[in-house]
Amino acid sequence: MVIEKRHSITLDEINAFQFECKKCRVKTIIPVTSDVQPTGVCRHCGATWFAPMPQIVGVVQMALSNFIEAVTTIASHSKEIGCIFSVEIKGEEDGEGT
Ligand SMILES: [Zn+2]
Repeated sequence: MVIEKRHSITLDEINAFQFECKKCRVKTIIPVTSDVQPTGVCRHCGATWFAPMPQIVGVVQMALSNFIEAVTTIASHSKEIGCIFSVEIKGEEDGEGT
């Protein structure tokens, strides 16, 4: 028997957006209530997160900005819409039993 665990969160449960630098592993955390936008550059070590693909920097930054705006907009109107929107996230490894 396969036991499947599902984990989901609603958008209003999101407190912040987190960006972990792959070079120095420092995390930049931007609260959802903040107007700060991701810069694409690590504030700790200065690593450029989208190099060596400068042609997609604008596309990725625009997508991130749109994503953050979408999440905050949906979350702020969650009580007024007729469904509960959530996203499913990966949890612990699925267990097997007998
Ligand atoms: Zn860094």
